[in-house]
Amino acid sequence: MSKKKIWENIDRNSQMLTKMARDIWENPEVSLEEVYASNLQAKVLEDAGLKVTLGLNGLPTALIAEYGNGKPVIGVLGEYDALESLSQDSIPERKVREEGGHGHGCGHNLLGTAGVGAVIAIKEAIERGEIHGTIRYYGCPAEEELIGKLFMLRDGYFDNCDALLYWHPSSNNTPWRVPCLASTSIVFSFKGLTAHAPQAHLGRSALDAVELMNVGANYLREHLPREVMLHYSILGNGIAPNTVPDRCQSWYMMRAPKRSYLDEAFPRLVDVAKGAAMMTGTTLENVEVLGGGNDMVMNQTLADLFVKNMNELNGPSFTDEDYAFAKKITDQFIPEYKTMGAQAFQIPPEYYDKDLLDKIVPVSDAKVLPISGDADPSWVYPFGAFYCATWPIGVFTHTWQATACTGSGIGMHGMLFASKTLAGACYELMTDDDLMQMVKKEFKDLDLHYKANIRADSVPHKVKLR
Ligand SMILES: [Zn+2]
Repeated sequence: MSKKKIWENIDRNSQMLTKMARDIWENPEVSLEEVYASNLQAKVLEDAGLKVTLGLNGLPTALIAEYGNGKPVIGVLGEYDALESLSQDSIPERKVREEGGHGHGCGHNLLGTAGVGAVIAIKEAIERGEIHGTIRYYGCPAEEELIGKLFMLRDGYFDNCDALLYWHPSSNNTPWRVPCLASTSIVFSFKGLTAHAPQAHLGRSALDAVELMNVGANYLREHLPREVMLHYSILGNGIAPNTVPDRCQSWYMMRAPKRSYLDEAFPRLVDVAKGAAMMTGTTLENVEVLGGGNDMVMNQTLADLFVKNMNELNGPSFTDEDYAFAKKITDQFIPEYKTMGAQAFQIPPEYYDKDLLDKIVPVSDAKVLPISGDADPSWVYPFGAFYCATWPIGVFTHTWQATACTGSGIGMHGMLFASKTLAGACYELMTDDDLMQMVKKEFKDLDLHYKANIRADSVPHKVKLR
């Protein structure tokens, strides 16, 4: 019973994995700066006997760890970037851990670590001769800025993969059966003419252009399909008000259920930017797509496989301490907030009165998942994903509550459950060729035609003032 041995391997490594997840949680690094996390994971994977490449084309914090030979080739995707200004202690009340510090409010400290645990367990089964094929761990940086996987895909690092497996922290234990929102990240850069404020008539303000662009975008919203979301922030006007700023940028993220909505909205947003430049006598110097692109396409055969393994594992193993921690958090919610948070993760209404979900939800009635990222690999390879509960029902991602839980026992126990679910799925794909063929046939029948959102010569980078 080899799968049992694989799960025992994860149990044996649970202390190491928990320590890794906690270490990354204590050293939160934002997109493209994940030096500590990528080095830590690379070292552990190398020590475990996998062939590790740390640093891929233009992505110094990306890594691939591989073991085995031949087919099938199964890729497990990990992430480890944190969020700005989300510092929080691992206690069930608001307490900043480090003033102005970052935090793992999306649980990527758990996300990558579960993958590391799964591939090490699979590697050992291959080494024992119990299963055959190739296992790969992909450490994918900068998910929060929609960058990592997009560039790794463009540069061919997923080549030969028969399936890609992914999970994400949440409040639910359920597979992803419906697409995630398509999203894109774009920076509009305006150039003006600086002047001392008393001679402002000689200057042309790039900040004015950004403000007018954002006003225009807010009028545009009404005339876009309702599903299109626009989010923006202003960058680079950090000079005193007594100077006319000659440089300013507006950073947009757009989301929609389908890539086609974004493709239609994008040129209209560019027209708004051009209009703002014309009004202010400035120049729209650059429009740069930083990342993002497609909606995430889900493979139902892989979704079923995750449910099968979750059921065999009988759900996550939370402790009394975890349930008490969860209750302290949910006690602070008003009922409407908890319900909306539960709906965000497709929790069925019969569980709304629980604090922490230890049950498995095989299907949900969701039409689209709000969580998105750099989803493009799902257009090129069969892609399966699932949620595991790492925080209480009602908690949203990118909140202090999520940061608190992803550093606590709840997060760790959810992570170990995710690791076993990933490993169990890998085991079955590597031992059941009929299943592998079903996964591939389902994908082939979709007849997808992938179009990249970034240019062939784009270089991955953070938003920076031009
Ligand atoms: Zn995330």
